[in-house]
Amino acid sequence: MYNVKEIFRSIQGEGYKTGKESVFIRFAGCNLWNGKVQERLKAVCDFCDTDFVGVDGENGGKYSLYDLVEKVEKVWESAFTLKNKYVVLTGGEPLLQVDQALVNLLKKKKYTVALETNGSIATDINFDWICVSPKDPNYWKQKKGDELKIIFPQDKFNLKELLKLDFKYFFLQPKYDKFNKLNLNKTIDYCKLNTQWMLSLQLHKSFGVK
Ligand code: SF4
Repeated sequence: MYNVKEIFRSIQGEGYKTGKESVFIRFAGCNLWNGKVQERLKAVCDFCDTDFVGVDGENGGKYSLYDLVEKVEKVWESAFTLKNKYVVLTGGEPLLQVDQALVNLLKKKKYTVALETNGSIATDINFDWICVSPKDPNYWKQKKGDELKIIFPQDKFNLKELLKLDFKYFFLQPKYDKFNKLNLNKTIDYCKLNTQWMLSLQLHKSFGVK
């Protein structure tokens, strides 16, 4: 069974695929924070802005493989007339649950399958698009993919060294906290001076889209 927090349709709000119509499957649970606010400060990742706990969100639940793909089909069909079916597997940390069987069945139904991961679990599943957003070098195993996204500002990663890794696109995304504006300005300044890094904005948050 797959524990799923929510399944919803939206527009990808960040990174290289910004603007892409997608169905998102948010898998429950993360291995870098347990989701308890009182334990956030001792977590590996202490700035999460996502609710990934439980299975109580929109279309959330415990799904068998076939029921999950059927639900994705319903959500897609209710929303889009476009032929290019696109699904984003996110979390939490989706690789705690996603397996080749799920990706195979989604592809059989003609979906392009994208993964958004914190990179703490290496994978050889044949996703069509992999976005890795590591939070700590000591918990980073998946070091190749399509886009690398680093939350900025940060002091854990050597950004110049990261550019040598096997990714097509490199993004910095302003940290979403009470210093939003300052973080945004710092990120813009860094990207201006280091043009291999591109700015990723969470447009869905700016426009109040899920
Ligand atoms: S790794 Fe991602 S999902 Fe997990 S706690 Fe951090 S930001 Fe949240």
